[in-house]
Amino acid sequence: MFYRYQEWKDRLHNFNDHIILDISLCLTLRNLLQVHTSVNRAVEFLQLTTGIEFPPPETILHAYLQFEALTDHEYKYSCPTCGDYPPVVIMGVHKQTASPLSGNDIEKPPGNFKGEVNLEEFWESLSKEMISRGFVANGRHDLFAVPPSYHFWAPWIGKNTRHSDTVLNTEFEKVTEERLREELFKQKDDVIQSLCHECAVESTGSRSDLLLRLSDEMKSRSATGGWGVIMCPCGIVYSLKCSFQAESHRDFADLLLS
Ligand SMILES: [Zn+2]
Repeated sequence: MFYRYQEWKDRLHNFNDHIILDISLCLTLRNLLQVHTSVNRAVEFLQLTTGIEFPPPETILHAYLQFEALTDHEYKYSCPTCGDYPPVVIMGVHKQTASPLSGNDIEKPPGNFKGEVNLEEFWESLSKEMISRGFVANGRHDLFAVPPSYHFWAPWIGKNTRHSDTVLNTEFEKVTEERLREELFKQKDDVIQSLCHECAVESTGSRSDLLLRLSDEMKSRSATGGWGVIMCPCGIVYSLKCSFQAESHRDFADLLLS
């Protein structure tokens, strides 16, 4: 039989039998995140203060996330003043988390997929991935890894606010950059000329010069995704959605309809 030390009563969190975090460090990291300080910065600060070299920040982040995945949380994603269905909401976008994924890295949904995903299943499997990281040797395949896909990734919406555990993610219907480029290349010369004017792109040169400039412009404008957030005017977050491609009204419509 295999015994793994995981005694929180000793105020320690064992990540992978090598890296063991003090529970008060885990709680400090949590509070720092709540005042917008990343784990990366916290590790940098600790190294400067103690003069001791820490494991890479990414490893500390994984250890901390494992701690959170094993912790019960009381946050309800609902504001006591606004109730479960706030009459006024604020929608925001966080782009800093832009993922380096391209459309080709994301698993295509099966043909019969209608944009309905199970929120509990998705977040439960994400928690399992966070926990399993401490058990899988470096470089080995993690059976619990959750690959990015349109038909499994789900937004988070507070339990009392959502209709049910089945929520919408219709991101697979977004028009991709590749698709837009294909359409652009089919356009007539005069359309391309006027597109250049509208986008304030230099419109002299051959057709292929103009197409190249427009493609570059498209690339610089298209974001690679981020987090869509819905909160009440008091600042309580009701729902979160991580998108692979540039956010659109579709993301917020999915959240509001769920
Ligand atoms: Zn509120």
